[in-house]
Amino acid sequence: MSERAAPFYCPYCGDEDLRPSEEGHGAWECRACSRAFRLKFLGLLAPGAAGPAPSAAPSASDGGTP
Ligand SMILES: [Zn+2]
Repeated sequence: MSERAAPFYCPYCGDEDLRPSEEGHGAWECRACSRAFRLKFLGLLAPGAAGPAPSAAPSASDGGTP
């Protein structure tokens, strides 16, 4: 099984007229909005990870120091 992932809709305009891009593996082009984008598999979520993304945690960057 390859890691080729085919998007069903353009993430920008929602159109289904997508085609593989010549930019390389995982790259797609939308004929509707002429955007090119790349899909990248980041990995599997940890078991039980159903909450918000760790980067969205307000405790890290939202410090109270003026
Ligand atoms: Zn599009």
